[in-house]
Amino acid sequence: MDHFPVFMAVAGRRIVVSGGGEAALAKLRLILKTTAHVTVVAAEAAPEIRRWAAEGRLRLIPRAMEPGDAMCAVLFYAANEDDAEDARVARLAHRDGARVNIVDNLLDSQFITPAIVDRDPVVIAIGTEGAAPVLARRIKRDLEERLPASLGLLARIGKTFRAAADVLPMGVVRRDFWTAFYDRVGPQAVESDGEAAVIPALETLLDETLRATGKAGHVDLVGAGPGDPELLTLKARKALDVADVVIHDRLVSREILELARREAVMIDAGKEGFGAAMAQADIDALIVEHALKGAHVVRLKAGDPTVFGRLDEEIDALAAAGVSWRIVPGITAASAAVASIGQSLTKRGRNSAVRFMTGHDTKGFADHDWKVLARPGEVAAIYMGKRAARFIQGRLLMHGADPMTPVTVIENASRLDQRVLATTLAELEPTLSEAGLTGPALTFLGLAPRDAVAATQTMNIEEFA
Ligand code: SAH
Repeated sequence: MDHFPVFMAVAGRRIVVSGGGEAALAKLRLILKTTAHVTVVAAEAAPEIRRWAAEGRLRLIPRAMEPGDAMCAVLFYAANEDDAEDARVARLAHRDGARVNIVDNLLDSQFITPAIVDRDPVVIAIGTEGAAPVLARRIKRDLEERLPASLGLLARIGKTFRAAADVLPMGVVRRDFWTAFYDRVGPQAVESDGEAAVIPALETLLDETLRATGKAGHVDLVGAGPGDPELLTLKARKALDVADVVIHDRLVSREILELARREAVMIDAGKEGFGAAMAQADIDALIVEHALKGAHVVRLKAGDPTVFGRLDEEIDALAAAGVSWRIVPGITAASAAVASIGQSLTKRGRNSAVRFMTGHDTKGFADHDWKVLARPGEVAAIYMGKRAARFIQGRLLMHGADPMTPVTVIENASRLDQRVLATTLAELEPTLSEAGLTGPALTFLGLAPRDAVAATQTMNIEEFA
């Protein structure tokens, strides 16, 4: 594409045409459809142009073009049907700062004018980059035949009805409503009873649609996994494909958000550890609000939604509002983190149970059964454990844990910027603070990176030294 199609704002701006013959007339027929201020500079102007000037539809300067004539113009057409004169006026217009088109001279033109199907405010521009004007005209004719002449009128009336139609659930229902209007109901109304029949027809259609859709939306509570988009489940992917609204956590990676349906409304309900950017109750209310409008909501949570995800509060809110929901599981941070250090969460003869624990809860540092956790061989995956590290370290040592117990912190597990910090309980702090991790990190108590893995990751670990 050597020419990029855009719709340029011309309301109240100047468009200047140099030339008064056929070429100028052809352009003027198009330009006069706009709300721009049109000026024609021509020593000799065709009668039609003079008539338009007399009617006040354009301003005619009845002489050859001079410097300043195209001052403040957004667009300029050189349409003198004379190469030398066109080149001269194009230079002048350039100097005046206008974008220049020289009729029938693609090479020296800064823009070209497409073939236009005008159903204002619906305007279709067809371009072939000068390669096949005949083809452009044929496509234009086809489209003109296909699009009812009333389309522009319908679009204008439709626009005034947009707010009223917003009572319809977002998504399929609303799209189907408008499709039915433009394809069937609108053209029929205009044809049988004229413009005045359109709004009543819209009102009837809206009533029918509302009656047919008295149902609420649906919420998928979806696990987005630890960050790597390939660790998303197929079910999660499908849910994102059809979502009308995606309400996501701060931790959900950008690559994953980009997989959502293009038209989906994306809402960041991001929360930071401790203090919340958005209170849980507000998030609950937001999810319910969109679902009640009929939207298919995807509530996208990092990792697995059932692990430290405050899922039950959201489900309670949905149940209270009578909204249907389902849980789509995801890969939790502990699974991704343990994979990255080549270890198992459980191991015969070492630990027959593993704990998922949080470093802090809504009340502050979380308390745990430290005595049990201090026993040799225990394995725990500590979520949200960065700030609580010193507290956890102190409690465990106080309860008799071996200071040499391996502790591994994995930051940004499964992401490109993953970092692994291998240490011991005795060294956990200040090692962790000194490392200055900024991403989400999972701490394993009782696990060290497997030797082979540790070797390949020494670089990572040394970054913290
Ligand atoms: N539901 C999520 C956990 C939410 S709590 C899950 O199943 O993973 C948020 C905590 O998860 C973070 O503080 C961090 O401890 C952990 N976490 C989430 N994503 C992570 C990642 N990619 N790498 C390491 N830890 C992560």
